[in-house]
Amino acid sequence: MKRVAASDDPHEQTTAKLKQQIRELQAHDAERARSTSERTSELEASNAALRESEAQYRTIFDNSEAATLIIEEDMTVSLMNAKVEMLTGYSKAEIEGREFWTKAVVPDDLERMKAFHALRRERSDAAPGRYEFRIRDKQGTIKDIYGSVALIPGTRKSVASLTDITDLKKSEQEMKKLSLAVQGTSDWVLIADRSGIIEYVNHAVEEMSGFTKEELIGQKTSIFKSGKHDAAFFQEMWNNILAGRTYRTIMINRRKSGEVFEIYHTITPLKDEKGEITHFVATSKDLTQQRLLEERVYYLAYYDGLTGLPNTALLLDRIKQEVPRAEYRKRQIAVMAVDIDRFSFINETFGTTAGDEVLREVGRRLSAIIRDGDTVARLGRDKFGIMLADVAQSQDIVLVVNKIISTLQHPVRVSGTDITANVYIGISVYPQDTVDAAELVKNADIALVKSQVQELNTYQFFTADMNRMASTFATLHKSLFHALANGEFVQYYQPYFDVDTRKLAGMEALIRWNSPEHGFVYPSKFIPVLEETRMIINVGKWCVKETCRQIRDWQRKGYALVPVSVNLSAVQFKQPDIGDFLETTIRESGIDPGLLTFELTESTLMQNPEQIRALLIRLKALGISVSIDDFGTGYSSLSYLKKLPVDNIKIDISFVRDITTNADDGAIVSSIVSMAHNLRMKTIAEGVETEEQLKILNILRCDMVQGFYFSKAVPAETVEAMLTKAE
Ligand code: C2E
Ligand code: CA
Ligand code: CA
Repeated sequence: MKRVAASDDPHEQTTAKLKQQIRELQAHDAERARSTSERTSELEASNAALRESEAQYRTIFDNSEAATLIIEEDMTVSLMNAKVEMLTGYSKAEIEGREFWTKAVVPDDLERMKAFHALRRERSDAAPGRYEFRIRDKQGTIKDIYGSVALIPGTRKSVASLTDITDLKKSEQEMKKLSLAVQGTSDWVLIADRSGIIEYVNHAVEEMSGFTKEELIGQKTSIFKSGKHDAAFFQEMWNNILAGRTYRTIMINRRKSGEVFEIYHTITPLKDEKGEITHFVATSKDLTQQRLLEERVYYLAYYDGLTGLPNTALLLDRIKQEVPRAEYRKRQIAVMAVDIDRFSFINETFGTTAGDEVLREVGRRLSAIIRDGDTVARLGRDKFGIMLADVAQSQDIVLVVNKIISTLQHPVRVSGTDITANVYIGISVYPQDTVDAAELVKNADIALVKSQVQELNTYQFFTADMNRMASTFATLHKSLFHALANGEFVQYYQPYFDVDTRKLAGMEALIRWNSPEHGFVYPSKFIPVLEETRMIINVGKWCVKETCRQIRDWQRKGYALVPVSVNLSAVQFKQPDIGDFLETTIRESGIDPGLLTFELTESTLMQNPEQIRALLIRLKALGISVSIDDFGTGYSSLSYLKKLPVDNIKIDISFVRDITTNADDGAIVSSIVSMAHNLRMKTIAEGVETEEQLKILNILRCDMVQGFYFSKAVPAETVEAMLTKAE
């Protein structure tokens, strides 16, 4: 408990004066006893002095600001002043001569108070002692009392002065509460003096800034400066607060660690009684925290707690965002509803914990299948939703559906038990089915119901057209499995020419599928399926062997040959034996490796840069050339390209198509050409269909051209006619 300093204590001063008076009285007594006989004459005078002294002492006693009383050894009150009446509400008659305390002191404090008195008497302690206790006044009000007690020397009496400190205590408690609140609040509270020297910080300041209280107090507030605000920013702030206005601003501060954080400051000037600003209080909120909180609220509103996936609302949001993009890019959007078959059976048989784990695992597997920009959501208890954005052709949707079905065919292992989640899938497609986001979701649901009357692990599109497409695609898919063994693939060749001389410069092998069920099929229809099913690995091997065989055949017939290029898919490149395979095949065919070129797309190059680089170096050492296909559609970096042994760059058809009308395309082609030449590479423009395009490409110094203007891809016999016999 905080004590009042002795020098300022009015009660103590009173007590001291009182004691002085008493001492004087006693001196008088002693004097009188010593010399009664000799000083009979002086007795009258002495009595007068005594009376005067007593009167003085009375006056002081009665007029003391403190409630003062004399307490006998047995705790009865022998004398008191008027203030005691005011303090306790009891009259002189009710107090004096009585053991008053039992009546007035709160029972809990009574023993303590008596013990205090007893102890002081026992020790004959003359120095005033202080204590606190509570009384209940006559009206029943509890009052906090501060007492100062002194033993009257040479007696067993004590003089006590009592002060009502009820209000003081109350405000002390208020202060304590307030200070606890300020200390504990999650908001930042900082008090600085007029010059910005920090005098107080609460816990939140320590926490947010990473500085301790000790490190901050006495420092300038500029300790938090992040350097993100200019002088004018601070000028504006000081102008406002020095003018006595509360100032609010968002500030970027710096932590002790150097990290910055955003804070919303409210700075209030504090004024003294004269109205002078003495301090500033900053009460501020950490916006970084606030943002985290907002994110959490957003998360709760838009995500499913169990799986962590987006919920229906967010899926719908994403579809809405995607629609205008798909419209602009002429792409499709697929929305799927995926329902787990008899999920309640799983719950009942294996328990809900197992059921929850199945849901989480299904969510994880679906998320692993989709690409960036797609969304997997949880729509209901055992229902998931998927949005595929940026779909180029309807068949691609079927490929993803097949992936979903096959990934879910592997059972989920939950505490030792294998549980298989069979599914039904309903699909709707933008723009074929509807262009409305909400309706896409609804149509997927309707398609789901149709799917549920069919066999397990199957799917239904919303419209009959799409279902027809899917079933054609499914049979195509099936027939493709036997195409290689049945010898249904054929190589066509599309020549390319030198721009200046217009002479044949090379040709590209392009695969065709001669299917008994589907007729003549172009690669865009089946290459994605081959890649998806990894059949491309064997088909791709066939392409390389077939091309080598054809070159060998032409060599035997005595033609002067041009390089022939073969397209290689990214899937093939992921095979660890690809280098060995290419090397063996070329050696065994006996052809000149200089006659073979491989075409890799820009995106293939970027997929595994280090491995690709090693492979290209190996091919180069064998004498094989390399072209980058579809250049301009990927994001390869120039610095990376520089490190690769590339011979040709094939400028993608999309830049050539409008080159006569679109100045941007011209500029792009021009910069690709000059970049290639700087790296000592040659350029081949794809998809040249007109004389005008050819002219511009010539002006832009493109080296070679390929396209329907010269020739489509044609069978080997046809392209053979363009070759000349060697001398
Ligand atoms: P690509 O490598 O970009 O081949 C060029 C495609 O553009 C060919 O289509 C070709 O017929 C077409 N084309 C050529 N000139 C013109 C033109 O002037 N105008 C237009 N509109 N198109 C032109 P194709 O033969 O249908 O091949 C499509 C894609 O299939 C190829 O694109 C290639 O990525 C892939 N592909 C073809 N054969 C194979 C192969 O043996 N292996 C692998 N991995 N992929 C292949
Ligand atoms: Ca190509
Ligand atoms: Ca191409």
